[in-house]
Amino acid sequence: MNGSERVVDVVIDPRSGGAQAVYTYQATPDVEEGEGLIVPLGNRTALGFASEVYEATEEELGFPLTSLKPPTAKVRGMSLPAALVELAKFVADEYLCPLPIALSGAIPPGARERLVTAWSLVPRPEKAPLTPLQKEVVRFLEESGGTIYDTKSKKLPAATARALKLLKGKGIVEQTLEIAPFEEKKGGERLLRLSADEKRIEDFLTHEGKRKPAQALTLMRLQTAERSSFSPGEIKGLAGVTDATLKALTEVGLLETVAADEQIVAKPPQPNRYQQLAIDAVSDAIQTREFRPFLLFGVTGSGKTEVYLRAAAEALRAGRQILYLVPEIALAAQGIGRLRERFGSKVAVLHSDLPPGERLRNWMRARNGQAPVVLGARSALFAPLDNLGLIIVDEEHEASYKQESSPRYHSKRLALQLGAMHRCPVVLGSATPSIESFYEADQGKLTLLSLPERAASAKLPEVHIDDLGQGYREGRPALLCDDLHKRIEQTVAQRHQVILFLNRRAYAPFIICRDCGYQAKCRNCAVSLSFHRRDRRLRCHHCGYSENPPDQCPKCRSLRVSPFGVGTEKVEEVVTELFPQATVARLDRDVARKKGALEDIFARFRGGDIDILVGTQMVAKGLDFPNVTLVGVIAADLSLNIPDFRAGERTFQLLSQVSGRAGRGVAEGHVVIQTFNPQHPSVQFAQTHDYVAFYEGAVVERKEAGYPPFCRLVNVIFTGASRSKVLEASGEAAALLHALEGVEVLGPVDCALERLQNRWRRHVLLKMDPGRHARDIGLVLLGLGGKDVQAVIDVDPYTLM
Ligand code: ADP
Ligand code: ZN
Ligand code: ZN
Repeated sequence: MNGSERVVDVVIDPRSGGAQAVYTYQATPDVEEGEGLIVPLGNRTALGFASEVYEATEEELGFPLTSLKPPTAKVRGMSLPAALVELAKFVADEYLCPLPIALSGAIPPGARERLVTAWSLVPRPEKAPLTPLQKEVVRFLEESGGTIYDTKSKKLPAATARALKLLKGKGIVEQTLEIAPFEEKKGGERLLRLSADEKRIEDFLTHEGKRKPAQALTLMRLQTAERSSFSPGEIKGLAGVTDATLKALTEVGLLETVAADEQIVAKPPQPNRYQQLAIDAVSDAIQTREFRPFLLFGVTGSGKTEVYLRAAAEALRAGRQILYLVPEIALAAQGIGRLRERFGSKVAVLHSDLPPGERLRNWMRARNGQAPVVLGARSALFAPLDNLGLIIVDEEHEASYKQESSPRYHSKRLALQLGAMHRCPVVLGSATPSIESFYEADQGKLTLLSLPERAASAKLPEVHIDDLGQGYREGRPALLCDDLHKRIEQTVAQRHQVILFLNRRAYAPFIICRDCGYQAKCRNCAVSLSFHRRDRRLRCHHCGYSENPPDQCPKCRSLRVSPFGVGTEKVEEVVTELFPQATVARLDRDVARKKGALEDIFARFRGGDIDILVGTQMVAKGLDFPNVTLVGVIAADLSLNIPDFRAGERTFQLLSQVSGRAGRGVAEGHVVIQTFNPQHPSVQFAQTHDYVAFYEGAVVERKEAGYPPFCRLVNVIFTGASRSKVLEASGEAAALLHALEGVEVLGPVDCALERLQNRWRRHVLLKMDPGRHARDIGLVLLGLGGKDVQAVIDVDPYTLM
C-alpha cells in the first residue's frame, strides 16, 4: 500500500502521560499546530500538544497507516500560540535537544488535573424532536451562556448527563474538555501592600522584627517596591514565607488589603532627555511593527525601569503584549511593583514558586488576553503570548539567563528570536552589559541607548583599593589591610554597619601538610576538601562527601597538617577577634541551610543587632540596608583566578554589584576592595565606575584570544565512571569533529573539574564563526557515547568548568 494520510505529531505532557515523547496520530480535519489534545497512550490517555500536522506515507512513518489512532478529544481554550511551537522548534534545532524537551516549558502547569468536561450548544444546531427533559436542558444551557461544566465538585445529575449525551447524538450540543473556570473572588481579587505608616514599619524592623524574622524579611522585600500591591502568592514566593506570616502582618496592620482594581497610581516622573530619546526609539519600533534590538545602558538608578514602563504603555496602547524578563524572581519585587502600579490587573507573574492553582490561572490570563503584561524569569519566554509588542530583558548580563540543563538555551538569543517572530522591539538593559552585547552595539547590531545621568540624586560610593601583596612583601601578611581595618573601626564607632564579602564559604578551602605538601581530596571528585571549623569536618562542595580531618599526615606522618587559605568562617573568626566591641555574624549557604536562619540574620542586621555581616554573594543581592556605609571585599582575586575567559568580566560585574550595597541610605558610602592585583582592569575600572573603559580592554583581549563575541563556542562534555571509556569516546568524537568544515577543535582535555561524583569528565571545546550553526555538530555526535559515557553538548556555554 502506497497511500498517504494526514497525521499529527503530538508532544505528550510528561506531567500527565509519564513519557517525554512525540507520538503520531491521525489528524482530524480541523486540528491545528499548538492545539491541546487528549490522546490514547497504551490503555490510558494523556494530554499532549500538536507540534506538526503533515502528510505522511507508511514508509515515512515506518509503521502501517492502519495502526494510527485518532486523538480522543480536543481541549478547548488551551492551545499554544503558533509562535511558541515555532520557538520550541528553534530551541530544539539551535541547542540540539529533542522537541519534547524544548516544548516542555510551554506546557501549562498542572493542566491535566483541572480539565473538566464542557457541554456547549453548537452554533447552528440540527433540527430534531426533543423530549421535555431535553428541552429543559437546552433552556438551561441557553441561560448559562451556552456552556455548562461537569466537574468533580459539581457533578451534573445523572438524568441531565444522559440528556446531554442524547443531545450530542442529535447534533445539538458538543462535548469538549477545558480548564475549569477559576472562581471569581467575591468583591474582586484582593492584593496586599505595605501600610502607609512608614514610622511603624521602621519601628517594627528596628525592635520587634528581630523576634519575628519572617515578618521582618517580608517587609524588607516589599520595601524595595515602595507601596505597590502583590497577591499573597507572589509575596510568599518573594520572601519564602507562609500564609501565617501574611496573616500576622495583616492583623497588626503592617500589611493592608486592597482591591486589585483600586491601586495607587504614583505620578510617573517626567522623563529626562536621555530617557525620552530611548522611549521614542523603542516606541517607534512598536508603532511600525519592526523587530529592532536595543541595548539600554545606564548605571543603577539612571531610570532604565522608567523607560521600560513607558515603552510598555506604548505597546499596550497599540493593543499588544509585553514580556518582561528578570534574572531571578525573588529579587524582582521592585519590577513587579512598578508594573502593578502602572498596569494593575493587566500584569501576570509567571513563576514556579507560585501555588499551582495561581500558576495555571496566570498562564490562562496571559493566554486569553486578560493579562497582556507578563513578568517572569527565563522560563517566561515560553508564556502563551501571541501578539508581543515589546520584550524586555532586564540585567541582560546575568548568568542565570543561561539555562544549565537541557534545553541549554540562552534567554537573550530566544528573546531576539521571539522579537523577530512577532516583529517587535527587544530591549536588553544593564549597567554592566555583557561584552558580547556591548560589542554588538558597537557593531550596530544592537541600537545603543545610553542613560548617562542618574535620574534620582543618589551618589555612587567612593571605592578604595588595598594591595594585599604589600603586607606580604613587608613580612606581615594579614586578612585585613590597615586601611580596611581602620575604616571598619570608624564605621562601627559611628554606629553604622559593615558588610564584608568573600565568595567562598567554609573555614579554609583545603588542609595541607606543611612538610610534604599532602592535600586532602574528595574520594568522589578531583577537588580539595574544604575545612569546616564549626563541626570540624572536611567537606566536598561538589558532592557533599565529608570526613574527619586527619590528626597526622597520611603520607609522611607529620603532625603539621593544617587549614590553608581563607573562607567566610575564617573571616568571621578573625573579625570577631579584631573587633571585640562589635557584633559579628555570617551568612552563607552553610548558615542558610538551617531553616529560618536567613530570615533571622537579615532581620537582626536590619534591626541593628549586628554591626558586621560577613558573607558570600548572598549578602550582595536584593535588599537595602540603609545603615550600611562600608562594604569590604576581602579578596577580589577569588573570582579573577577562575580559569574561564569570562573571569575578568564577572569580577567587574561582581565588584560593581557589591559596591551598589554601600550608601543606600542618607550617609555617604565607601567600598574597599582588597586584592593581590590592584592594577587589574576589572578592579581599576570598578573603582572609577567606568564600564566603557573596562569594555575596551576586555574586548581586545577576547579578540586576541579568539573568544566570543569573535567566535561561537560549543562545549562537548563527556562523563562516565570508567576513565578509559571517557578517554576513548572523547577521542573518537574529536576525530569526527575534525572533519567538519569551519570548526576549530580544542582538546579533548580533562575538564577543570576532572572528576565529579565519581564520574570522569573530559571535554572538547569547539570554536566556530559567530553566525555558524551547530546542527552538523549534533549530527556528528549522534549516537556517540551510549550507556557508559554520557555526552552533553552545550551550545554557547556559560561555564567551562
Ligand atoms: P534603574 O532601573 O536604571 O536602576 P530606576 O528606573 O529604578 O533606575 O530609577 C531610579 C529612581 O529614579 C526611581 O525611584 C525612579 O522613580 C526615579 N526616576 C526615574 N526617572 C526619573 C526622572 N526622569 N526624574 C526623576 N526621577 C526619576
Ligand atoms: Zn605530609
Ligand atoms: Zn566530592
